[in-house]
Parts: sequence; structure tokens; C-alpha cells
Amino acid sequence: MSIEFDGSEIREWLKKSRPKRVLIQSPLGLRELAEQIGSMVSREGVDAFISSSPTWGGCDIAIEEARRVGADAIIHIGHAPFLPHVEFSVLYVEARYRDYKPLESLIEPITEALTGYKKVGVGMSVQWLNHLAKFIDDLSSRGYNAVAGEPGGHLIHRGQVLGCDYTSLKRIEHLVDCYVVVGSVFHALGAALISKKPVLMADPHSQKIEWMAERARRILATRYYMIQRFKEARRIAILVSRKPGQYMMGLAQKLKKILNENGREASIIVSDEIMMESIADFTYDAYINTACPRLSIEDQARFSKPLLLPVEAMVALGKTTWEEVLDKGLILNLTLTVHQSTNL
Ligand code: SF4
Repeated sequence: MSIEFDGSEIREWLKKSRPKRVLIQSPLGLRELAEQIGSMVSREGVDAFISSSPTWGGCDIAIEEARRVGADAIIHIGHAPFLPHVEFSVLYVEARYRDYKPLESLIEPITEALTGYKKVGVGMSVQWLNHLAKFIDDLSSRGYNAVAGEPGGHLIHRGQVLGCDYTSLKRIEHLVDCYVVVGSVFHALGAALISKKPVLMADPHSQKIEWMAERARRILATRYYMIQRFKEARRIAILVSRKPGQYMMGLAQKLKKILNENGREASIIVSDEIMMESIADFTYDAYINTACPRLSIEDQARFSKPLLLPVEAMVALGKTTWEEVLDKGLILNLTLTVHQSTNL
């Protein structure tokens, strides 16, 4: 799928911020674009290094890596800005899809699946957002009252969704009967975990649509089972990532204190990337994940011990109830209380 890439934006940024050396970060799938941008930056007379370190979101800006290689600026490809302020010069190249056709060809199956619904909330991963207005028009012209929500939390675009932030959907929850989330299962499943409204995934890449209820039900059943197992745990490790948008040391320390007060031994484990393979050798009974919340959702199946989110740990300790967490759609929020929720 062809990506919209405006070289003039990069040239202007280079002129304005005058970096001496730029580190170019890209997620898998956009490596070729990183090469093109690297060549372009070099042609402008600026040193360009291309990072092959994994990056999964706008939360993951490689500031330490850039400093290590003497870069004074970063071009981050494939994600929208995540943090309101980053203590480094960063240009985000969102890499949006140019062509509407892969989404347009899903309109008929989507409208068929939406039979019986009238008011539809729309969310999209950032790559599809250029087509938000057209998609809403197409649904509206077929008799649906389609709306997108304003951004908030870590979102900066209307209708945008992230795997850890669905503020744009939550803001219109009272207005809609269901949601259509354009992106992958990853994006749509997250929406189904935080809302009781039905969520239809529309994936233009695979040309698939799917209601997310069954997948969400299975995930929540596993989460509940892991919460029960966590109750037996005595030695617990709290995982903290050093990534700028995931670093939650304050939360980890609060958790440690609460665990100690409740008779548990607790340690904090720090790393850049949290990988199941790198914690598998530890002998703790259970883990609490304060980094990307989707690790606990997507990676739990590869890990035999409970890998709870902070609010799930609070359920296990009897500080709140599972019903309340689900009711308020807080499972992905990195929070300790259902009354004062805090996003990442
Ligand atoms: S925290 Fe996870 S879901 Fe959120 S932007 Fe980062 S990688 Fe994506």
C-alpha cells in the first residue's frame, strides 16, 4: 500500500532545526521508507543514521540511542506524537496511506454487518486518518449516523485510536450504538476491551471485517483467571520500561509500597524493551506490567505466570472490583484506582 510521504516537510524541518546528525527510527513494515528518508537527509548534507531497533509506538522515541551515536535529532516514522513534550528534537512522519480503495472496497461488507445499527462511532489507526471524512461520508450516504470523536489523552487527531488510548471513542460512547475501527485486530480488540458497545474491525490490509466480541470475551476470561492466580503470589516483580512514553517509575514505586503493605515481597525490574524471553528466567510468582499495557493482553499467552496490569493487581488485592474496572472501561489505563483514572 503506498504511503503519503512529503519530502518538503522534512527539508523544511532540517532547515529550521539545523541538526548535525539525525537518527531515523521506523517500525517493521516501514524500513524502506526509513532508507528513502535516510538518503534524502544525506542529500541535504546532514549525517543520517538508520536505527534497526524495534519501535512499536510514538511512546518509543530512541533518545538514548540517538545520544549514544551523537545524533542531535530524531525522525520517527509511522506514529503520531504521543507525549506532549519530548526533551529532544523529533520530527514525526506519520506515513499515512494514500489510497482509499482498500478501505472503500470494505464499505459494502461493513454496511451489511452493521444492519440493525444506526449510530456508528468511527475510529482509525493513524495510517488511515486521511480517509476519515470520506469514510464517514460513505457511511452517512448509506443511512448511518456516523461520527468520530475529538482527541484527548495521548491522541492528537480526531478519530484516532491507539492500542493504549481510545479517548476519541469513549467521548462519543453515549452517542453511538456500535463502533467501526479501521486498522488491525490489535486496534479494534483494544476498543472492545474498554467499551461495552459492539466493535467491528475493518482491516483494509487483509480485506477482513470481524466483530470483536468473542476475542474480547476470551481475553477478559484469561485476565480474570490470571487475577485469581495472582492472589496466591507472594513474590512479585513490577516491570518498568525506560522508553520515554512508557516510563512509569512513580507508579511502580506506589505499587511496591501497596504490595508490601499487603504482605507481598516486591521488586522492580527495569529494561528498555520488555520481552517475555528476558524475564522467563526470574523466579517471581507473578508480575505487574507498568509499560505498554498491550504486553499483558497480547503476550500473556506466551507466559505462564500472571502478567497483570496495575488496575488488575488492585482487583487481586481487593482494592477494587473486576466489575467496576470493566464497567468503567479502565483495563488498559495505567491506574491504581477506578475513581481517578490516569492514562499512560
Ligand atoms: S504504549 Fe503500547 S499501545 Fe501505546 S503507543 Fe506505545 S506501543 Fe502503542
